[in-house]
Amino acid sequence: MRSERPPSVDSLARSLGSSGLPHPLCVEVAREAIDAGRVDDAAAMALQRSRRLLTPVINATGTLLHTNLGRAPISLHHETTYLNVELDLATGQRGSRQRVIGDTVALACGAEAAVVVNNCAAALLLVLAALAEDRGVAISRGELVEIGGAFRVPDVMVRSGAQLIEVGTTNRTRLTDFDRATKATDVALLLSVHQSNYRITGFSERTSIAELATLGPPVAADIGSGLLDAACPWLAGPPPAWLDGEPAARQTLEAGADLVIFSGDKLLGGPQAGIIAGRSDLVAACARHPLARALRPGALVIEALQSTMLHHLRRDADAIPFWRMASVPVAELRARAEAIAHRVGSDRVTVAATEAVPGGGTLPGRTIPSIGLSCPGDVTAVLRQATRPVIARVHENTTVCDVRTVDPLLDRELAGALSAALAATGR
Ligand SMILES: *Cc1c(COP(=O)(O)O)cnc(C)c1O
Repeated sequence: MRSERPPSVDSLARSLGSSGLPHPLCVEVAREAIDAGRVDDAAAMALQRSRRLLTPVINATGTLLHTNLGRAPISLHHETTYLNVELDLATGQRGSRQRVIGDTVALACGAEAAVVVNNCAAALLLVLAALAEDRGVAISRGELVEIGGAFRVPDVMVRSGAQLIEVGTTNRTRLTDFDRATKATDVALLLSVHQSNYRITGFSERTSIAELATLGPPVAADIGSGLLDAACPWLAGPPPAWLDGEPAARQTLEAGADLVIFSGDKLLGGPQAGIIAGRSDLVAACARHPLARALRPGALVIEALQSTMLHHLRRDADAIPFWRMASVPVAELRARAEAIAHRVGSDRVTVAATEAVPGGGTLPGRTIPSIGLSCPGDVTAVLRQATRPVIARVHENTTVCDVRTVDPLLDRELAGALSAALAATGR
C-alpha cells in the first residue's frame, strides 16, 4: 500500500517542463511513470525520452560512413530563408529544381546530364521504371545482391515493373551469356550492380562495362558508393590505397555505361541522395516519369548536395568532411590523441594505433591507418550519456575511441566525456 497518493498526471507533467520536452511528451512520460509506480524516476525518464530525439553525436567508432550515424557527416544550417528552388532568377519564370543541380553533378562526373532523387535505391527504381517497364532487364546472377537495410536488387526490380532476366552463374558471367539473353528476349536494359559489401573471389569472372556496351541495349551501372573520379582530383595527393578497384562514375561512363547510379552520402561525402547521370535522353526519360515527382529531394538536400558538388569542382577535399577525415595524416591524429590523453590523464587512457574503415557498405575489408584512445573495460554506455553522446567501440573488453572520425573542434568535448565516463565507472 502506498502511504501517499500519486501526483496527478498533469502536475507531474508540469514538473517535467525543465526537461525541455513539449508538454504533450511530458504528459506521456508522466502517465508512464505513474502507471509503472515510478514517480520518483519521472525526471530520468523524461531525460531518456529527450535523448531518443535526433541529436548531434561524436562518432568515435572509426567507421567514416557509419550507417547508424547517417553515413557521411553533414553541416546543419539554421538560417531561416527562402531558396530559389524552382525560380529562374534571370527570367523570373518558373524553373526546374533539377536543372542546376543536375548540370553541376553532370559536370563533376563527366556526364551529359543528371537527375537527383531521394537515395540510390530510388534512383535504381526510377531507372528501371522509366526505361524498362514491362520489358526485360538482364543482370548477372552474381550481382543480385542485398545491400543492407533490405535493399535487394531482385525486389526493387519486381516493384519497378521491369522483368528480371538472370544471366550467367553466381561466380562466372560472360559476355556470351548477356548476348544470348539479348537475342532471345526483349531486353530494354543491361544492368550492372556493384557488389559493394561482399566479394566473389577465386574461380570467378565478370562482364566488364566495356563488353556490355558492345551489345546494343543501354547499359546502366549501379556503382553505389558515389566515387566521382578514380583519380580523386579533389585530393592534394594521389588516390589512397584503400580506394583501389572501387568503380568511379567518370570512368564507368568513359568505359561505355549509358547511365551510372550512385548514393550521395557514401564516398561522395554529401547528404542522403541518389544520382542518375549519363546520356541526356535517358536522364530526361527518368525525370519525366511520374515516379520522379514522388522520389524528388527537398530544398535542404539539393542545397547540401550543391555545396558538396561545388567543393568537389573546386578540388577542395578539406571542405568535404568525409574526405577531410579520410585524409588526415596519422601523425596529426596521434598528436590530437596525445593532447586528449593529456587532458584525461595519461595513466587512464592509452594512445594506440587503430584501423579505421570507410564503412557504409563500401570497400569491405579495406582499412585506413588511424589512432585511438583506449581504456580498459566497456564504458560505451556511459559515453553515450554525454551531453553530446560519444559513440565508441569495444574490442576485447577495451573501449576504443578512434579520433579519425572525430571533428578536431570536438576533441575537448571528447576528453571531457572520457574523463566523466572513467570517473563514473570508478576508473
Ligand atoms: C549503398 C548502395 C545502394 C543503396 O543506396 P541508398 O542510397 O542507401 O539507397 C544501392 N546500390 C549499391 C551498389 C550500393 O552500394
